[in-house]
Amino acid sequence: MSVEGARPTPLAQDMDHAHRLAVAAATAGLQDAGLGPARLTGEGVRLLADAAVSSATPFLRAPLLARLSRVFLLHPPPGGVAETCPTCAVPVPCATAQALVT
Ligand SMILES: [Zn+2]
Repeated sequence: MSVEGARPTPLAQDMDHAHRLAVAAATAGLQDAGLGPARLTGEGVRLLADAAVSSATPFLRAPLLARLSRVFLLHPPPGGVAETCPTCAVPVPCATAQALVT
């Protein structure tokens, strides 16, 4: 998601791309013949898949975000109060923090 008129960051672009892939996978899954009589069809399937992915995504990302938060405590991102990475002992942002924010 981006602010109107602002160029999306590479991370935002990656997340949008991942969302589109997840919706495509969910759409295919909801239409899977293996579901038998519970299989969904029609134009509303993609809308339902998008809603399901949007609802589930925060829960799926939570474990990863928790770990990334712990990484940022060890390797502070730029713009914070730390001037030196407490783990790497180099000026902020260290290589680890740079890898996470680009
Ligand atoms: Zn570091």
